[in-house]
Amino acid sequence: MKKRTKIVATIGPASDSLEAITGLMRAGVNVFRLNFSHETHEYHSEVFARIKKASGNTGLVTGILQDISGPKVRICMLEEDFILKTGDHIEFMKKEILGHKVSEGRYALCINEPKILDQLSLGEYIYMYDGIIRAVVSEVNQESVVVRVENDGMLSSRKGVNFPNTSLGIDVLTTKDKKDMLWGIENGVDFMAISFVQSAKDMLEARAIIDKHHAKVELLAKIEKFDAVENIDEILDVSDGIMVARGDLGIEVPFHEVPAIQKMLIRKANSQSKPVITATQMMLSMTTKETATRAEISDVANAVFDGTDAVMLSEESAIGKHPILTVKTMVKTIQGAEKHYPYHKFSNFEMIDKVDKIDESAARLAESLHTAGLIAVTGSGQSAKKLARYRPDIPIYAVTHDDSTARLLTLVWGVVPAFSVEERALRDMMSEVMQQGVEKGILDKEKIYILTAGDPVGISGSTNLIRVISKYEIEYFLERNKELNHDHSID
Ligand code: ATP
Ligand code: MG
Ligand code: MG
Repeated sequence: MKKRTKIVATIGPASDSLEAITGLMRAGVNVFRLNFSHETHEYHSEVFARIKKASGNTGLVTGILQDISGPKVRICMLEEDFILKTGDHIEFMKKEILGHKVSEGRYALCINEPKILDQLSLGEYIYMYDGIIRAVVSEVNQESVVVRVENDGMLSSRKGVNFPNTSLGIDVLTTKDKKDMLWGIENGVDFMAISFVQSAKDMLEARAIIDKHHAKVELLAKIEKFDAVENIDEILDVSDGIMVARGDLGIEVPFHEVPAIQKMLIRKANSQSKPVITATQMMLSMTTKETATRAEISDVANAVFDGTDAVMLSEESAIGKHPILTVKTMVKTIQGAEKHYPYHKFSNFEMIDKVDKIDESAARLAESLHTAGLIAVTGSGQSAKKLARYRPDIPIYAVTHDDSTARLLTLVWGVVPAFSVEERALRDMMSEVMQQGVEKGILDKEKIYILTAGDPVGISGSTNLIRVISKYEIEYFLERNKELNHDHSID
């Protein structure tokens, strides 16, 4: 199964068993998302261990993304799902209650940040569940605020609530978020996604926590606020990647602007060689159904055409009826789009540094020689990401020296973290790569490859070498490897 665009899947009650995780992995999931808006540390620790186990069992390299919930306002637990009809009333109580149906057409519930209710006035709008349910404030009382629902829909426990006209004035990293980040650092997650980022300052605050603990975690900014769109350049500068978090974004900005914003965000992330995830409602109807709508298929394909590194599943895989089938459908959709993909994006980007120019030449050469792959020896993963920016029509095989770098590349378009090789003199590493490549059936002696590396090794951002590898070199290095191993056996 070949695809270039990566898949991120959220794990939840529908997919948290070892069996389900293994199935998702085999179906094509590259990165698993643990959403810290839900469940406990114990729960996530168990899921984390199962992902590691499934990865070990299958031999597939996968990444783990911890989604830090941020100051998201949510409704409380509900006794049962509310089947809402236009004109129904919901009473938002300021005290804590279990949400319930009061009478026909009338419901009561509470939210996790009741203070916000004091700021609401008559006629203001509130949105629930990624904007799927819209309601208008119809009564403001001492102990509660009553809203009138303006469309039909189903509401279940802990869904998000948005107040587009109300300024919340809460910090982006809550006390809970900071505790959750420590969990992520201790357990060794690969990515953390920071919610409701507004400016570079929010990302720097998160970065300070990571740096203080000397953790190797990539920080992704979830772009879901109006100000984040405005401040995208400064945010991107201090982030390792971004997520187009369309659920909350579609409420913060007029919904009809989301497609253009998505394209703009993807283009900016691409030009800096930073991974970008397109998220929310991608195959939402598969939460309950066995097929996706034409519109959803088009949405996934268009995100691929826009240049996204990864597409994401939320409730589809967390609470849906068909997590694995959804991933399979997504894989087919991606493959379909990639048949008509605008590869070879050579003149599209500004050259930010020397390595960009070297990698552009390497990618161009790889294509003009009709090679079967690019092999990037990369300490930090940076040079594989830079090669991916040009979207070459051949696989990019990363040679990494540690598992954590390999996992960071699971999010990057077109990059296969195929080789794990101890950092040594380049010639020795090449021998090892050829050996592993031929053994694993990745490299074919009859084909040509381009290898990029920094030589002497060990200096980050030092890619300075482009080498053409063909039958002769592969045989030479295999032979050399035999001799090396022979020498060792004599020692
Ligand atoms: P975000 O704003 O971070 O996207 P969300 O509430 O939309 O938050 P998603 O992970 O995008 O969360 O969507 C998953 C849906 O599945 C949510 O609506 C949530 O109610 C439900 N769910 C239940 N349990 C879990 C879980 N353990 N992990 C994730 N989602 C869960
Ligand atoms: Mg969100
Ligand atoms: Mg969501």
